[in-house]
Amino acid sequence: MAVPQRRTSKTRRDKRRTHFKLAVPGMVKCDQCGELKLAHRVCKTCGSYKGREIVKA
Ligand SMILES: [Zn+2]
Repeated sequence: MAVPQRRTSKTRRDKRRTHFKLAVPGMVKCDQCGELKLAHRVCKTCGSYKGREIVKA
């Protein structure tokens, strides 16, 4: 089995971890009900999209 030749330094380890970030989903407020919803998706609370394309009640 391959084994690292030398221990990863704290600096190198921490530099690698600067890329570990939380991916925050694009949330915006719904025009209709004001709830937070995913951008470019039909609002799951009131079923509207772009003004008043009602999907479900
Ligand atoms: Zn809504």
